[in-house]
Amino acid sequence: MNKIVIAIDGYSGCGKSSTAKEVAKKLGFTYIDSGAMYRATALHFLNENLSPLRAEDVEKGLKGLQISFQFNPTTSQQETYLNGVNVEDEIRTMRISERVSEVATVKAIRTALVAQQQQLGQKKGVVMDGRDIGSVVFPEAELKLFMTADVETRAQRRQLELLAKGEQASLEEIKLNLESRDEVDSNRTESPLLKVSDAIEIDTSSLTFSEQVEQIIDLVKKVTLN
Ligand code: C5P
Repeated sequence: MNKIVIAIDGYSGCGKSSTAKEVAKKLGFTYIDSGAMYRATALHFLNENLSPLRAEDVEKGLKGLQISFQFNPTTSQQETYLNGVNVEDEIRTMRISERVSEVATVKAIRTALVAQQQQLGQKKGVVMDGRDIGSVVFPEAELKLFMTADVETRAQRRQLELLAKGEQASLEEIKLNLESRDEVDSNRTESPLLKVSDAIEIDTSSLTFSEQVEQIIDLVKKVTLN
């Protein structure tokens, strides 16, 4: 299989990360969760009592920010580290989901994280998911996908994910969070979430997980055969 870049963008909670992870595993590619980087940044700003909306705080926050990923052989998962500490579980909580989109509106923060994402993907053979991957991070990606699903389905899936990690949140609370993040992500000035003209849309509302993965693998085969 040729090493290509697969960019997956789309709304919050429509299964981008889990699908991207499985596609990467099947292809022997590296998976990079760009949302985890924004989540880790939001956690860092909270921990350090910094406001993403104050320029001095942003400068200070970015200076002390180091994000990395490490594979955990016990869970067979890639986990996110903030300044050397494993924050994989903490960044998935509602506390962070409620703050992350504000952090992601800040130009200086996006510039820093995009540079790191481009560096992580420079050798190709990567699947990266996020909001601006096909538009800004890898505009030359060989395959661009835009995933959607209706908000009820997305909220139900997210509730199950949170429950599996021991966090209880009502469907209404989750739905409001997904809708509010979609709104902020789509309407911000810096790199808003949008479907670029060369992206292929996949609506996952009525697809099973394996159908989603198979559809993408088929598209990869078509792209790499050409
Ligand atoms: O993908 P995930 O839902 O974990 O992303 C969390 C948040 O990070 C998004 O709602 C969005 O505000 C921000 N994000 C972004 N650009 C990306 C990835 C995530 O703005 N490439």
